[in-house]
Amino acid sequence: MLALNETHDVNLTSWVTSANNKNSDFPIQNLPFAIFRRKGSGESFRAGVAIGNQVLDLAAVSHTSIASGLSSEALETCCDETLNRFMGLGLEHWSSLRSALSKALRTGAPEEAELSGCLVAMDEVEYRLPCQIGDYTDFYTSIHHATSVGSLFRPDNPLLPNYKWVPIGYHGRASSIDVSGQNFHRPCGQTKAPDADAPSFGPCKRLDYELEMGIFIGPGNAPGEPIALDQADQHVFGLCLFNDWSARDIQAWEYQPLGPFLSKSFASTVSPWIVTLEALVPYLTSFERPASDPQPLPYLDSRKNRQQGSIDIQLSAHLLSRQMEQAGDSPAKLSQSSFRHSYWTINQMVAHHTVNGCNLRPGDLFGSGTQSGPDPEEAGSLLELSGGGKKPLTLPNGETRTFLEDGDTVIFTGWCEKAGHARIGFGEVQATVLPAQADLSARADIGE
Ligand code: CA
Repeated sequence: MLALNETHDVNLTSWVTSANNKNSDFPIQNLPFAIFRRKGSGESFRAGVAIGNQVLDLAAVSHTSIASGLSSEALETCCDETLNRFMGLGLEHWSSLRSALSKALRTGAPEEAELSGCLVAMDEVEYRLPCQIGDYTDFYTSIHHATSVGSLFRPDNPLLPNYKWVPIGYHGRASSIDVSGQNFHRPCGQTKAPDADAPSFGPCKRLDYELEMGIFIGPGNAPGEPIALDQADQHVFGLCLFNDWSARDIQAWEYQPLGPFLSKSFASTVSPWIVTLEALVPYLTSFERPASDPQPLPYLDSRKNRQQGSIDIQLSAHLLSRQMEQAGDSPAKLSQSSFRHSYWTINQMVAHHTVNGCNLRPGDLFGSGTQSGPDPEEAGSLLELSGGGKKPLTLPNGETRTFLEDGDTVIFTGWCEKAGHARIGFGEVQATVLPAQADLSARADIGE
């Protein structure tokens, strides 16, 4: 069972002293997982845990004497180049390893002598995707995002009638998901202006980001065996930051009747660190459905889900233009929101996804959908912040944006904070837009 335990104690400190800084994303109460190696080395990738400004090399830890039993079985899988086997083990194993690491990393722990040789400085590592992502499903759980985007695409009918009944999602493309630092070319495709007779081909002119949470699945379910709502959290390994890049002009032309296709499948970026659901227990919060809205159908409703189905995670989006980067400016903040505003919970997403018998597998990824808050300034995309491209945003250096320009870097951060509990951070996810591939652009010119 997921519950508060001694690993969450706010008074715990670590002999890795950088973890004791109050602003650190990675105190001893967090212990998130990534796949890493020393930057530019020929080493094998393996699992690591973040502690302060260090990465604890779990492959190295597996050769020490700190673990036994379940945590030792868990450590054995951490020598793999992906977390899939570890994710498939389940909560008992994850929890046992978390407890062993928490004890061994504490101030005064006798394991310090053995583990201090297993640390690698975080600024000396490189990451790759934490797991092989078999399937990726993108949900649409922010009613504020769905309503404001719906009003841009369909002014007379912004929120479709199924929205308040069904955790809407579509099956996305897993092959083009990469880890933070992913740089991708501006996509080309078909677009059609509302007043044009026919579509044209060329580079996307309305490139956007989507501020989302990524949800990694742990143990799966057998085909035909749905996961019940109150068991769903046993099937969730953890959460990361997720940018679901979107080509709005391509999307507007292609999305009906079957939903987004090439407007979303060219790139999506995850943060390297996955924060486990267990680390987030102090931040579980009530799920509230307005009394005037339809209440969830029985398979999507339970006391547990209403009491602690939501998670209060602060999310923020920043932009660094090429001009800002060259001038040495800091990234400009575009917006901030919280995952607690989500209209559907993670457990509802899992229960709904499997209710038809669909099987999930370890390492599958859910996108939460763009997490826009109730206020317009809390929007999680440029589409919303610029009113559909009609109201340009002015950056601190005077540049303006309706959508993304070549050379723009988008950076998301996420964190949980409240009195009486340790800050739990997600680090960051960032990626940069490169110009459209020259040969494709040239082909577009000939076409015109
Ligand atoms: Ca999305």
